[in-house]
Amino acid sequence: MALDIVCPTCESDEHLNGEPVGDGLLRLTCAACRGQWTRDPRPKCPICRGDDLYHLPQVILEKSRGTQMSIQGIHLEYGCHQCQPKEVKVRGGSMHHLPGRLNGSQ
Ligand SMILES: [Zn+2]
Ligand SMILES: [Zn+2]
Repeated sequence: MALDIVCPTCESDEHLNGEPVGDGLLRLTCAACRGQWTRDPRPKCPICRGDDLYHLPQVILEKSRGTQMSIQGIHLEYGCHQCQPKEVKVRGGSMHHLPGRLNGSQ
């Protein structure tokens, strides 16, 4: 599985080995230059540096022939509870939350 990790020394991304070293950290070893460094594999918000994130799977659609859309894959993104609260995405212009109960949904 390809991660966005490259060796900070030689910028190789092919010969990296990771092993957990506790506390949620990962120690990475580059077989190309024998460099070692640790990395926090938990995603962090690039804005507030918080780690209070939620998963945000994005379905990648692509137009195939005609007007049909086909699913190319699912890309996992993260949203930050602090900077990107889910409520912002609710459409309709009102400040209320989504209607919790619609008629007939008991
Ligand atoms: Zn390296
Ligand atoms: Zn944030």
